[in-house]
Amino acid sequence: MTQLTLPQFSFKLRDHYLIGENVSFKASPNTSGLFSANGPDTIVIHFTAGSSLHSSVDVLTNADSGVSAHFAIGRSGDIVQMLPTNRIAWHAGESVYAGRRGLNRYSIGIELDNAGQLKAKEDGLFESWFGSTYDESEVIAARHPHQSFKGYWHKYTDIQIAATMSLCRLLCEHYPISTVVGHDEIAPSRKVDPGPAFPMEELRKSLAQSTEKKESHSDKSSERGLHTQIRDKVIDVTSSQKRHVANVSANSLNVRTGPSILSPLVEPALYKGEVLNVLEKRGEWAKVSFTKTGWVNTHYINEISVRLPLKR
Ligand SMILES: [Zn+2]
Repeated sequence: MTQLTLPQFSFKLRDHYLIGENVSFKASPNTSGLFSANGPDTIVIHFTAGSSLHSSVDVLTNADSGVSAHFAIGRSGDIVQMLPTNRIAWHAGESVYAGRRGLNRYSIGIELDNAGQLKAKEDGLFESWFGSTYDESEVIAARHPHQSFKGYWHKYTDIQIAATMSLCRLLCEHYPISTVVGHDEIAPSRKVDPGPAFPMEELRKSLAQSTEKKESHSDKSSERGLHTQIRDKVIDVTSSQKRHVANVSANSLNVRTGPSILSPLVEPALYKGEVLNVLEKRGEWAKVSFTKTGWVNTHYINEISVRLPLKR
């Protein structure tokens, strides 16, 4: 992203409704009721693959469409909220992440106005599925991790990304958000949004930083923040006389470079039943070795202790 002086978005969330200068509300009937008492713990980012914010909001608020989202963010940073953030929206579809299915029940959906994946034309322009064309300056060329070829993707605007980051930060203050994912990460066989043009790692980093800042200024150690795990006491498993082994209990388990949901992924993910050596534990995270070394959430592994002979 180019460094621009971006306006500060001063949003507030009051009774699950977003309040701010560039915010409007248009109700969607497409909801299956309230989240469970815990509230949403995940944010899912999408692109609309639509021609305008207006046209996408029309679809997301149409009872016949069968889809909705909590927020849609336009290319000038304007935000349309369609459901209060205590109600379940229909944006994820069939989905699975970290052993949970049907992510609508746990997540806030944010749709970004963006034309999606584009096709290169002979005249040097790029064309969307709905026939609009875009100049080279509005496009990035990148291979999506799910695809075997380099694709062309409509860029997001800087102000749109800034609004998305501000909104996510606010949501993290109000709900126990521990996961921010792209639709492509929870429905990998069907979806490529928000795609390589979206700065997912920057978003995760920025949320981790603001959570750290918030936590260093408060004493609420019980608060379930994005980074609380890291401060948890280090338990050195290797110093005990047991060899710790675990197997994967989730259908698919992400491995990360650090003990946080915001740490980058170590590919490939693990599958149910795979056996791991447990090297170290920090809070709800375990450092494991398999063909590589990485961190996994202990909720999705079964630990088995194997006693080592005292002498070799
Ligand atoms: Zn999507």
